[in-house]
Amino acid sequence: MAASTSNAASRPRILTGDTPTHTGLHLGHWVGSLENRVRLQDEYDCFFLLANMHAYTTLAEEPARIRANTLGILRDWLAAGIDPDRSTIVLQTEIPAIAELTWFFAMLLPFNRVMGNPTIKTEIELKNLGDTYSFGFPMYAVGQCADILAFRPELVPVGEDQEAHIEMCRAVAGKFNQVYCGVGNRVPPEEHVKAGGVFPVPKAKLGRVSRLIGIDGVNKMSKSLGNAIFLFDSAAEVKKKVGKIFTGRQSPTEPGKPDNVLMQFCDAFLPAARAAELRDKYVRGDNIGDGHIKMELTDAINVLLEPMRQRRAKLETAEGEAMLVDLLKVHTRRANAVAEETLAMAKKAMKLDYFPRSLGF
Ligand code: ATP
Ligand code: MG
Repeated sequence: MAASTSNAASRPRILTGDTPTHTGLHLGHWVGSLENRVRLQDEYDCFFLLANMHAYTTLAEEPARIRANTLGILRDWLAAGIDPDRSTIVLQTEIPAIAELTWFFAMLLPFNRVMGNPTIKTEIELKNLGDTYSFGFPMYAVGQCADILAFRPELVPVGEDQEAHIEMCRAVAGKFNQVYCGVGNRVPPEEHVKAGGVFPVPKAKLGRVSRLIGIDGVNKMSKSLGNAIFLFDSAAEVKKKVGKIFTGRQSPTEPGKPDNVLMQFCDAFLPAARAAELRDKYVRGDNIGDGHIKMELTDAINVLLEPMRQRRAKLETAEGEAMLVDLLKVHTRRANAVAEETLAMAKKAMKLDYFPRSLGF
């Protein structure tokens, strides 16, 4: 599939992505980031990262699984409406500039800032990593700064759990610009490039729902926590999972909590007027059972997912897989052109421009 770069240069850039720790994406990804990505493809020059290197931070001993997950997420992206003719897919392990920038950025970040990053701390706890996680695990937060900055984007569409990472990325971009590009420490972040900085200081763009709760009713919906409804779940699986959403409410006349998981799902997946109407009855305990709301939600979610399921099924074939690998090859070349340009700019600023280098593409 050809990837057009038409008028890409004139559009501001976006970079965001997903880690292939699971075969596919869930509804939290959709409302938190994916929906924004699909919508912003015309306005922005979009780079979407398959963070397969980061999957090795917790799944290093399962390379076949990571490979299958990587292709699975790519299928979900295409099925959800990421258009490879307008946007660039970035396969992280094939972009050497990202690994090189990670090293440089690691030197600009205090060790304790990385280890104290609240998202890293929560992940260690929620994923039961105890004190056995790899050295590479917290490094992924530094790597993520490089993932983003390699493409010098202005915006990063993410869910709420990523805000701490984006803050760290902004800090590193600012520090690099100050230390190596002579940007004064009074220059506001949005003017760093104008003042000679290599890196724009990017902003997070939160989705419509920045933290969708999982069907356990407690934690963020997450690929790794067994509480997710996946974009590729069948209609029957969606029904079963929505049925399991736990609110603790006992009867249709018990006043429900206005901000519980069921109400959040209504806001996320039903038209706004209908969600407001249901909430009104729900908080008054006006003879409205959780089961009734769950049926309505199941239908709405299945209407959203059905076209994605159909598009995904076409990509599940052997020809579908060959097409995905071809696509990755074409897009890797395009992504490397930008990332190598960034790396050369960064190395020049760091007095490492002994001679030009080329990856031979
Ligand atoms: P893992 O359990 O492996 O960390 P995850 O489900 O958290 O997986 P990520 O690949 O870490 O998914 O996240 C990809 C993007 O989706 C990030 O921008 C993240 O903020 C967003 N996201 C993930 N889960 C949710 C959610 N429940 N609500 C809103 N946004 C989410
Ligand atoms: Mg995550």
